[in-house]
Amino acid sequence: RAKADGRGGYRFFEPAMDAIARERATLEADLREAIEHEQLLIDYQPLVGIESGRVEGFEALVRWQHPTRGLIMPTDFVPVAEDSGLIVDLGEWVLRRACTDAARWNPPLRLSVNLSPAQFGYADVCETVARALADSGLPPQRLELEVTEGVFIHDAKRGIAILERIRATGVQIAMDDFGTGYSSLSYFRQFPFDKVKIDRSFIKDMLHNSHARSIVEAIISLGRGLNLQIVAEGVETAEQLAQLQGCSQVQGYYLSPPLPIGQFAGSVLVNPQTAVELPSLKA
Ligand code: C2E
Ligand code: MG
Ligand code: MG
Ligand code: MG
Repeated sequence: RAKADGRGGYRFFEPAMDAIARERATLEADLREAIEHEQLLIDYQPLVGIESGRVEGFEALVRWQHPTRGLIMPTDFVPVAEDSGLIVDLGEWVLRRACTDAARWNPPLRLSVNLSPAQFGYADVCETVARALADSGLPPQRLELEVTEGVFIHDAKRGIAILERIRATGVQIAMDDFGTGYSSLSYFRQFPFDKVKIDRSFIKDMLHNSHARSIVEAIISLGRGLNLQIVAEGVETAEQLAQLQGCSQVQGYYLSPPLPIGQFAGSVLVNPQTAVELPSLKA
């Protein structure tokens, strides 16, 4: 009887678990289709230089235009891609499309592309990057790859070796979402970065939380000492921007949300809707 009750309890949850598994399988199959049939698209978000007061580059952010579900954001499908191995094809698609786009930009601004830690596990990322550059004609000096510390969790040695090989070709490496994981200071000693992006949770808390502010200031001064560029992500207000003048670059809705590249027409490189005048960036 007890055993039957136990099984009954288990069965109670089973349909829900099943539904989740089925939903994921459907999403995975759809995503496979999406990569083949060009349902993915890329929005670009400006990175604005504090010194120059200008847009210096764009970060490529993938979206999925699903035929029946509408626009799906990366947080809802990149994890599915990572678990299924589809991240290799997805990542290659984004890299190739973004490099091809950027090769035509005038002025020739920099391009940032996110790499998933899972991409390091499956294929030769270094080779994929080299081919995307060669085929698009984008000079390696204009490309920057954003990685999270997830790259170092399973096999740090391998992660470092791959990043060093990529970096040797002239591509820059940025650590994304810094402060959210283990964020050991030893990363700064061992790992081959050109840039650190402070996670937007710190920027969000900075104005009303003195700890968050101290952490941001410490990362900025660490960056200066180690000759690393420091970027603040998720800047949403003028007040936040005023506190971030020690950074190299800023990024966030206050400057511009991610948009289709066509909307940054001509010399007006900041989203006209936000009406942020670039000269006002210098506080
Ligand atoms: P991320 O690389 O840290 O990108 C920043 C995310 O913050 C983007 O979300 C961006 O739209 C959002 N954001 C920018 N400014 C603000 C702001 O002022 N306030 C707030 N609240 N959010 C802001 P998105 O586009 O939804 O992308 C989420 C994450 O998905 C990215 O985080 C990245 O980890 C991943 N991702 C996006 N595209 C790719 C890709 O092509 N490949 C891989 N592997 N991951 C990607
Ligand atoms: Mg990023
Ligand atoms: Mg980030
Ligand atoms: Mg993030």
